[in-house]
Amino acid sequence: MAGGKATHTLRAACVIGWPVEHSRSPLIHNYWLKQYGIAGAYRREAVPPGEFATFVGLLAARGYVGANVTVPHKEAALKLTQADERARAVGAANTLWFEAGTLRATNSDVEGFLNNLDVCVPHWDRNLGKAVVLGAGGAARAVIYGLLTRGVEQIVLINRTPGRAQPLRQQFGPRLQIGRWDELNAALPAASLLVNTTTLGMPGQPALPVDVARLPGIAVVSDLVYVPVRTPLIAAAEARALRTADGLGMLLHQAVRGFELWFGKRPEVTGELRALLAADLGDGGVTSRR
Ligand code: NAP
Repeated sequence: MAGGKATHTLRAACVIGWPVEHSRSPLIHNYWLKQYGIAGAYRREAVPPGEFATFVGLLAARGYVGANVTVPHKEAALKLTQADERARAVGAANTLWFEAGTLRATNSDVEGFLNNLDVCVPHWDRNLGKAVVLGAGGAARAVIYGLLTRGVEQIVLINRTPGRAQPLRQQFGPRLQIGRWDELNAALPAASLLVNTTTLGMPGQPALPVDVARLPGIAVVSDLVYVPVRTPLIAAAEARALRTADGLGMLLHQAVRGFELWFGKRPEVTGELRALLAADLGDGGVTSRR
């Protein structure tokens, strides 16, 4: 377990994961701490699954005012905290904070996804018809929950493994339809929003079998993958002049809530912060988006 006993004079938060070295959260939160002149700290804590409950139980004693939680602890965090409705609906918590001595939890991927779309494609949700969501993991749950709260009328959920999509249909109800993976391109002409929540497009993964040419010209394309920053899906959508929202934008926007809860300041997602992250992800040329 890294970190040891925390210094109690600083407001401190951390990201808990196993492994946790890959997490970009310290870069984001330490940038904001410096930017706003806040005397705080944000650290990585490598905690194996068997030690997670104990670690969370001692979070305040270790000097932490809250934490991010990443793989593989997001489901366990839900059970160990008083989670809000969205974390329970998504089935995973990624942001913890203390409220009147109680450890609360939420899932900030929902607002990260929605706020990024709001910034990149203002009014994307006005008269939105059908949304096509690819994937049925934790990220897909956050996206579907968010889309339903914005009043999206119909979502077609398409996953390689149909059995993983069915429980989402049961949970989220009739506005969600299940489509077949081998017929995903047939769903595209009717889509005004396409969201990729699968891992396809990442290095070492197969390409996403999406024919972007089949999307209507008004379609908005969102990709949750942020390694690489400019995914093949985003590049293909931009080549067609479709409006897009990328995974790096979502990553930055999902961090806002935690920082505000822990350090009392709602931080801004700036071009400079985006460039910092893009450079760290090895995609330094992609800095123009917010
Ligand atoms: P997950 O629970 O492991 O789900 C992975 C999804 O990818 C499943 O739907 C899986 O389908 C699909 N998949 C994997 N390999 C596939 C293949 N070869 N062909 C077709 N489908 C395949 O992961 P998650 O937590 O939902 O995350 C998914 C992605 O979203 C990751 O890339 C993650 O980094 C990204 N994400 C980004 C943000 C952000 O802030 N930008 C936030 C959260 C997640 P099966 O069910 O058939 O296996």
